[in-house]
Amino acid sequence: MIALKHSNRLLKRGAQSLIGSVNSPVRSFKAVNTDMLFAQKAYGPFICDIDGNKYIDYIMSWGAAILGHAFKPVVDEAILAVKNGSSFGLATEQEIQLAEIIKRNYSSIDKIRFTASGTEACMTAVRLARAFTGKTKIIKFDGCYHGHFDSLLVKSGSGNLTLGIPSGEGILPAYSRDTVSISFNDIELFKKAVEVNKKDLACVIVEPVPCNTGVILPQTGFLKALAKICKDNQVVLIFDEVVTGFRLSLKGAQGLFGVKPDLTCFGKIIGGGFPIGAVAGRKEIMDLLAPVGGVYQAGTFSGNPVSISAGIKALECLEKNKKIYIDLEQKTAALVSVIKHEAEANGIKVTINTIGSVFSIFFTDHEVRSYADTLDVDKAFYADFFAQLCQEGVLFPPSAFEACFLSQAHSDAVIGQTAKAVKKIFRMRR
Ligand SMILES: *Cc1c(COP(=O)(O)O)cnc(C)c1O
Repeated sequence: MIALKHSNRLLKRGAQSLIGSVNSPVRSFKAVNTDMLFAQKAYGPFICDIDGNKYIDYIMSWGAAILGHAFKPVVDEAILAVKNGSSFGLATEQEIQLAEIIKRNYSSIDKIRFTASGTEACMTAVRLARAFTGKTKIIKFDGCYHGHFDSLLVKSGSGNLTLGIPSGEGILPAYSRDTVSISFNDIELFKKAVEVNKKDLACVIVEPVPCNTGVILPQTGFLKALAKICKDNQVVLIFDEVVTGFRLSLKGAQGLFGVKPDLTCFGKIIGGGFPIGAVAGRKEIMDLLAPVGGVYQAGTFSGNPVSISAGIKALECLEKNKKIYIDLEQKTAALVSVIKHEAEANGIKVTINTIGSVFSIFFTDHEVRSYADTLDVDKAFYADFFAQLCQEGVLFPPSAFEACFLSQAHSDAVIGQTAKAVKKIFRMRR
């Protein structure tokens, strides 16, 4: 058994001054019924806990660390930025530069506003859509997470799912009343939902590849059909690419699937591991934001120079390394294929959804195409699997409804070690 003496001590100490010892619920490991870990440091594909145990990391800051933890070129850039003052209250040239990098990769985007988090980006996107259309209602999809903004916390993915909170307490009914949440991958249902709500419908917000209820793949034609119906009905289409932006490809999910949304939300990767978010899109909509237009949105740390500098470096590295997305995909496919094979060989029922450098393992005997399909996954089995992986020095997400992320730093050796650990665990369970 790995020693968790210091983590356990901090858990008790933390509970006196923090809520459940964490500042974001999934870090509590409550969903896997395991003692939580306190991180001490991370580098490359590894993360170390406070007791000195080292793990191959597949959380990777929920996908933000696509270049690996503490990637030197990004760290150096961030240090330079800090030395020049970490926050100004004035605009900087770097913000324009990061916006230009995003623009040259996303043909759907004319203008960008940086925020301090993905939550703010999604909140602002909805506000913009409402201002642009003069309408109120939002359609979202079950299991998609768009941050913890009131109107979007309806059937919203892992954090809520694993803790069994359907919409969350403390949210005024007035805020969720205008949100319609429907099943992903059901275009007929979507058509109906648009038809019924058309008169009041401002926008549709979607994770083009949902990654917050585990990974769910859009079925062929689903996103294109979605875009067409939105266009035909003059509904603003918002792609929440906080995870998928610069993750599935340089051009995100929209580039991969050839669909142009009206607005796109970013976060995670574009800050190079520092807090960030961005809402971006067509200029007719974006120019409604103050100071050009009348939609108010602001932030002391929006476009923070450290986040922006790190983001520029990270995106430049991704742009320069043309093979990175192909490499990541191949490594991910290799790992997934071993896991599938070992599960089969040991009579363990799994469905593994994967795309690019993300995957999730669902312990179930059927396909997973929507949130409803996740309801009967074997959570207890996942919890045991998670704990055993920790013992083997591999850290998967502490929830049966999250995605695993690879980074450029995950070498073949590290993936081989992961495969070996999975093999050992599955064989023990036979
Ligand atoms: C993480 C995430 C968000 C929220 O971003 P924060 O920076 O955590 O506020 C929004 N949408 C998606 C799809 C996410 O994965």
